[in-house]
Amino acid sequence: MNKKAHSTEKINVFWFRRDLRVEDNTALAKAISSGFPVMALFIFDTEIIDELPADDARISFIHQQLQKIHKHLVAQKSSLHVLKGQPRDVWKELIDSFQVQAVYANKDYEPYAIKRDRELGEWLESRGTGFHLFKDQVIFEEGDVLKEDGKPYTVYTPYKRKWLEKFQGAPPKVGKKANNGFLKHSFPFPSLEDLGFTPSSITVPPYDLSHLKDYPKMRDLPAPDATSHLSPHLRFGTVSIRQIIAGLGPSDEVFLSELIWREFFMQILFHFPQVVDQNFKAKYDGIDWLNREEDFERWCKGKTGFPMVDAGMRQLNATGYMHNRVRMVTAGFLCKHLLIDWRMGEAYFAGKLLDYELSSNNGNWQWAAGTGCDAAPYFRIFNPESQLKKFDPDLEYVKRWIPEYGTPEYPEPMIDHTFARERALETYRKGMRN
Ligand code: FAD
Repeated sequence: MNKKAHSTEKINVFWFRRDLRVEDNTALAKAISSGFPVMALFIFDTEIIDELPADDARISFIHQQLQKIHKHLVAQKSSLHVLKGQPRDVWKELIDSFQVQAVYANKDYEPYAIKRDRELGEWLESRGTGFHLFKDQVIFEEGDVLKEDGKPYTVYTPYKRKWLEKFQGAPPKVGKKANNGFLKHSFPFPSLEDLGFTPSSITVPPYDLSHLKDYPKMRDLPAPDATSHLSPHLRFGTVSIRQIIAGLGPSDEVFLSELIWREFFMQILFHFPQVVDQNFKAKYDGIDWLNREEDFERWCKGKTGFPMVDAGMRQLNATGYMHNRVRMVTAGFLCKHLLIDWRMGEAYFAGKLLDYELSSNNGNWQWAAGTGCDAAPYFRIFNPESQLKKFDPDLEYVKRWIPEYGTPEYPEPMIDHTFARERALETYRKGMRN
């Protein structure tokens, strides 16, 4: 860090986290309108990134996006300040080196981030520096959509109804691109290698809203791949949720419902942070998971002998993405057919998904396991073969991901569906507390 740089000039800092854009960025706009020049900052948080492999695709994506932001700032004789370390150490050094009046950031609702921000806010305030957080990554946050009695919703349909009611009352405005007000200083931009990473061979595709009119009838079919691919962009904030929703029309209600699921699970995680490692419904705590390591391995590698499960896992391993219908089938298969604890599957997805989002991943895994809020009832067990016939009738998706399908190299089903179904029902029944 350049300790002397601008040490006497009063500045504000805008901290980029999961909002990697200069367009319609709430806290960035607030920082700029505050009057002091704004230092734009990103911290590669070692508490998070030290766990990741060197070629993690999400780090490559973040780095590319930061590069774009940096370029935009350089055109205004500014630059993006990119640092790596534990946030509290980085902040200590920054506050010692610059005359920071206030720090601006957008709110992050995950338990780790809430704790980090609370501690940082207290520390900054003890040093006379303001810390201002803004709602940005959602339309409605934890306290915005509540039941009449002030409690959070735990069932999606009434939550959605209330969400839509509030939205129609006051649709949020889309903000402008941040074009000036940045600190005129040139910070060096680190390469991926400087940060201890290598480029990934997996890339994040752009999102695509051109098929929305066919979304209701196409969204469950993995072969045409006609969903939006918005999820990693919403995860890292490379586009704002307000901008996406402002572009929707009345016929896009099904698509909007999916975006509401995202906010539903975010508020569940906020109000019930214990779901991170516990069943939402404690009555399932007694399930006697088998957790057989060799079964888990076959599932991870896409070698179960169930084509839809295997195609999905191979798609995930190769691209960091899996179609939603197939996520439901693979997750259900792991929990119900193999009786493997949803937490193992959740962790595997978390390591691979480009769109990995704690709230959505956890909420959907608990949904598939039957342990979550508003989950599929435990006795509803997907038949992977019927799902295949219904959603990939021409085997187009399966053949795309399993080249050896139909040859002797492709394994036989690792378990009999009827047997697995009965065993799951029995295990859930036995493990359930009333
Ligand atoms: P589209 O169908 O185009 O949907 C648009 C957007 O709506 C998505 O980008 C996403 O933001 C939201 N959305 C759609 N379905 C859901 C849903 N079921 N729950 C919450 N939000 C939804 N989504 C993640 O973003 N991160 C995850 O880590 C994640 N893990 C999942 C794990 C399992 C076991 C399952 C069954 C689903 C998971 N999902 C997750 C939800 C869903 O599969 C993805 O959001 C979707 O497949 C992303 O592709 P898309 O952007 O083309 O979706």
